[in-house]
Amino acid sequence: MTRPLRLAILGATGSVGQSTLDVVERHPGRFEVIVLTAHRRAEELAALCRRCDPKLAVVGTDAAAQELRAAIAGAGLRTEVAVGPAALEEAVVRDDVDAVMAAIVGAAGLASCLAAAQAGKRLLLANKEALVVGGALFMQAVRRGGATLLPIDSEHSAIFQCLPLDRAQWPAWIDHIVLTASGGPFRTRDPATLHGVTPEEAVAHPNWVMGRKISVDSATMMNKGLEVIEARWLFELPPERIRVIVHPQSVIHSMVACADGSVLAQLGTPDMRVPIAYGLSFPERIESGATRLNFEQMAGLHFEPMDYSRYPALRLAYDALAAREGSTVLLNAANEEAVAAFLDRRLGYTDIHRVVAGTVEALQPALGPIGRLDELLALDEQARSHARQTMKALP
Ligand code: NAD
Ligand code: MG
Repeated sequence: MTRPLRLAILGATGSVGQSTLDVVERHPGRFEVIVLTAHRRAEELAALCRRCDPKLAVVGTDAAAQELRAAIAGAGLRTEVAVGPAALEEAVVRDDVDAVMAAIVGAAGLASCLAAAQAGKRLLLANKEALVVGGALFMQAVRRGGATLLPIDSEHSAIFQCLPLDRAQWPAWIDHIVLTASGGPFRTRDPATLHGVTPEEAVAHPNWVMGRKISVDSATMMNKGLEVIEARWLFELPPERIRVIVHPQSVIHSMVACADGSVLAQLGTPDMRVPIAYGLSFPERIESGATRLNFEQMAGLHFEPMDYSRYPALRLAYDALAAREGSTVLLNAANEEAVAAFLDRRLGYTDIHRVVAGTVEALQPALGPIGRLDELLALDEQARSHARQTMKALP
């Protein structure tokens, strides 16, 4: 028997992290969980440690580490507990880790993704913000480290599944790609009523069950904007060859329009376990646990052009991609701050856009060349601080 694929699952307590464990547990002996990480939710991580007995568990704070140690004491586990960003980076480069599931939310996942890329790991990338912020640096680390980068975002996995295994053929194959967007919970809502929407309404996605931040991004369409930027790096396409269409059923997960006029699509029920299973087993396929599509019961597949006035965040993302390097760092950082404030009920829903657009506009003119991680992180911090000040000044 071949050796199990040894995994580090970053963000194990999150939506993608838990779906990953669900797939892993369907295949006893095929995978071994070496590392699990979470930020603060020690109780939940302790429960996962009891389930998988990892060698190492990493948390973000000393308080969480204490809680975790107490919660697993006496359980007879091999699990050691470590704390902080440096421990996270050490965890992904371990010799006994073959593959890393990057499922931390936000730019907080960038450093560990870069470390995994440089170490030449098989990198299952759910953490789109890391690529939006890291961009060229991230892709350079993948190439230099010899890492295998496997997209987990459902749209990018769909495109990846439609393309030949030999990447050298991609440029000649692809005319353009089409990312599908469900339109989120407010697709048909009167835009005049949007300011008053609550976090509960914004995170109630019609098709997908996801973490809170990405759910808000799906409502504003910033998620699709981040995905356009993600696609630019993963598939090396200019913005005009990355298109977006509204497809409310989320059955077609994205499409490749080929040079000869053929359009290839990947279909399925909206369940992240499908792209996760493909990332785990690539280039083979394994059971994911997802409900199968039933064409007899399908009411139809519908498409609508993107309404940029309803979803101004998508235009902002395209503009940032076309603008100076660093603009996408500003976009992402301001968005993370604004969405966190909205979820905390400190900011109105339509003010998310005002804060993001205002931050990009204010800081973009002064952008100089950036290339190193510390420069990216300094810019990220500058944008966050600008966004926080803007929010304080709002009525
Ligand atoms: P989530 O909020 O459910 O989980 C986030 C995880 O990251 C948690 O385990 C949390 O403990 C950890 N975390 C949060 N902040 C951290 C920090 N500062 N340092 C270290 N760890 C931290 O999020 P999710 O929905 O699972 O999404 C994870 C990533 O995957 C995001 O980048 C998201 O855009 C992407 N993604 C998610 C889905 C989905 O269906 N949920 C689909 C496509 C892409
Ligand atoms: Mg997606």
